[in-house]
Amino acid sequence: MRRPLVAGNWKMHGSRDSVGTLLNGLMAQSVPETVDVAVCPTYVHLDQAVAACANSVIAVGAQDCWHAEPGAYTGDVAAVMLEELGCEWVILGHSERRSYHAEADALIAAKLQAAAAAGLKPIVCVGETLDQRESGEAEAVVARQLRGSLEGAVGTAGLVIAYEPVWAIGTGLTASPEQAQQMHAFIRKQLQDLGVDAQQTRILYGGSVKPGNAGELFAQDDIDGALVGGAALKAEDFNAIIAAA
Ligand code: 13P
Repeated sequence: MRRPLVAGNWKMHGSRDSVGTLLNGLMAQSVPETVDVAVCPTYVHLDQAVAACANSVIAVGAQDCWHAEPGAYTGDVAAVMLEELGCEWVILGHSERRSYHAEADALIAAKLQAAAAAGLKPIVCVGETLDQRESGEAEAVVARQLRGSLEGAVGTAGLVIAYEPVWAIGTGLTASPEQAQQMHAFIRKQLQDLGVDAQQTRILYGGSVKPGNAGELFAQDDIDGALVGGAALKAEDFNAIIAAA
């Protein structure tokens, strides 16, 4: 039995005030003992989140890390720095990083190795665009991303995969529970073929997850939680998604 994980990806949102309000709202509700929860604010709000979550079961994660040891990499943040700060998780290969920062699978694989070496648990994102889905390539794209992003790191402790169809991110369009389940089952099979302990690996769904659709998504056999964007910015919505897990 896989323990559900609900992770909030706050993307490039927040001020010290709004982050404080959001964290207060999350602390106001207790997390069910059966669910793991993480919040992933921007780098500049990590410290604030770690402090606020210190006495709670909510873990903190970063949205990315660099693949190398600390050194001459202007603007980047090393995995060991995140671990030192109190992060438990790191999101890697989000489609916004793949598109706005041209991150390729090989770079994501290198980041994954750095994250694992630093003791961070990675959430590796995969997912096809609308064009790719419409041309029948969704599974091939996801299989290629998994193979490339996990290269050399299939044994990573605590590895989590997030399936985020690009067409469902921030659009209000959600994959139907059946569409998502079909891809999650496919991902689990791919993980097994790659030598990952597939039955133990959590596969999260991401893309317009809301309180109103979380329950039917979580009811699917191979959906082990969610990576939540917009709805993670409202404590009431995020709490309701956690309660549905
Ligand atoms: P939305 O929930 O806003 O669609 O974002 C999903 C996402 O990209 C989470 O990483």
